[in-house]
Amino acid sequence: MKHLIIIGNSAAGHKAAITARELDSSLKISVISDEKAGAYSRNLLAGVLENNLKFRDIVFADEKFYEQKNIQFISGKKVEKINTNKNWVTFIDKTRLVYDALIVASGMSMSVPKCVKGAAKHGVIGFRSISDLNDIIQLMPISHTVCIWGGGLAGLQAAAALKKKRMEVKVIISGDKLMPEILDENGEEFLKNRLAQQEIELIAEKNIVDIFGDSDVKAIKLDNGKVIACDILIVNTNFLPNTKFLDESGFDPEAIKQGLAVDVFLQTKIPNIFAAGDVLEVSDKTLGLIDQANSWFKAEAQGKIAAANAVAFLEKKDELKAVYEPQRINVAESQIFDLAAVCLGITRKPDDPAFEELSFVDEETNVYKKIILCGLKIVGFVAVGNTQERDIFSQLIEQQTDISQVKDDLIDQDFNSELLKQLIAKPIAA
Ligand SMILES: Cc1cc2nc3c(=O)[nH]c(=O)nc-3n(C[C@H](O)[C@H](O)[C@H](O)COP(=O)(O)OP(=O)(O)OC[C@H]3O[C@@H](n4cnc5c(N)ncnc54)[C@H](O)[C@@H]3O)c2cc1C
Repeated sequence: MKHLIIIGNSAAGHKAAITARELDSSLKISVISDEKAGAYSRNLLAGVLENNLKFRDIVFADEKFYEQKNIQFISGKKVEKINTNKNWVTFIDKTRLVYDALIVASGMSMSVPKCVKGAAKHGVIGFRSISDLNDIIQLMPISHTVCIWGGGLAGLQAAAALKKKRMEVKVIISGDKLMPEILDENGEEFLKNRLAQQEIELIAEKNIVDIFGDSDVKAIKLDNGKVIACDILIVNTNFLPNTKFLDESGFDPEAIKQGLAVDVFLQTKIPNIFAAGDVLEVSDKTLGLIDQANSWFKAEAQGKIAAANAVAFLEKKDELKAVYEPQRINVAESQIFDLAAVCLGITRKPDDPAFEELSFVDEETNVYKKIILCGLKIVGFVAVGNTQERDIFSQLIEQQTDISQVKDDLIDQDFNSELLKQLIAKPIAA
């Protein structure tokens, strides 16, 4: 019996495992995770921090789930290295498994840049896993101020949750952008106002150079010399793909340097090894215009393709290989400060007269909406506060629907979205 091994049990790895099982009922499938929990939604970690959710609420596939799918789930075991000549996966305890095909879905981690002193102190924590969350929760009762380094989605979700727990929260960003993976300039402004309303201090265009304290964090020093007292430093910057176990595995070091390099089949240069999710080198372009990494939906979509192609490889049916189209449609969805946010396609209008931007902001109701057009087709959609039109716009973008009939009314808040649904139902002939 052929053996497919998947390293990683999150968006990409989990999706890969269930896809492979759907495609081949007899294949031996093993999913490996260094985390003890089953697969869980990272975007709900902030909900646990805030006490709205329990850990068990965010786990969507546990041991029992995998047992029912006849998938071997190896949890709490870290892969130390792989040997691509012998097809071995070796764990830290030196035990090993042999694979016929391998899918690497090991994600990425945040880390303190090497030039920063004091990174090993107790209280310097990421915000990516249940274990990070446990560390934060343990320190909270004896902490007053939390500094969050990085303006990405995860850090801001943590900021919002900790503020609700009545902690003093400061967010430090090296540039002036907040959640650049989801929002455009107006959306960022909108979010900055929300931070100010919540009394979360935003310290922009600064970096941390030193972390003070004996063994515990007591303060951080910024590159302008300012020292800020804090008890917890949440690091949400400097994302690095988890590829350490691929060093000296037979991969060309260049192919793993910035993440794992793959082709359109999500296949690496080593034919029986595929990869998916945040571990990938970010090289795909939506509509040839923009990169987007760090998305649950994208990781899942890639997990599905990697699995289909790994199964086709094992069954020697290369003609069935699925192509990962650098997604015609990027999707990122989030919840922050009780505001839902969604972005589809491109979020920033390219500097090209072929593109047009329509936008609407209502600060009273906290609603922000933006549509980016290329000619008479929608290529981007951003909505904050009200994301009900997500599916309609997703289809309009994907089907490249001609919206000339409704263009002038698109951004009108009272616009009847039924008209859009009709356009989708009866696409205008090209
Ligand atoms: C707090 C937070 C909130 C987020 N919110 C959103 C959101 O609202 N919307 C959105 O689209 N995206 C969101 N994201 C991003 C999204 O969660 C990621 O893009 C997604 O999890 C990537 O999935 P992945 O499977 O590629 O990798 P990961 O989720 O990183 O999973 C990789 C897994 O592999 C394991 N692993 C790594 N190395 C080894 C090894 N050597 N041996 C064994 N196991 C290993 C890791 O421990 C991990 O469990 C959020 C992320 C975070 C952290």
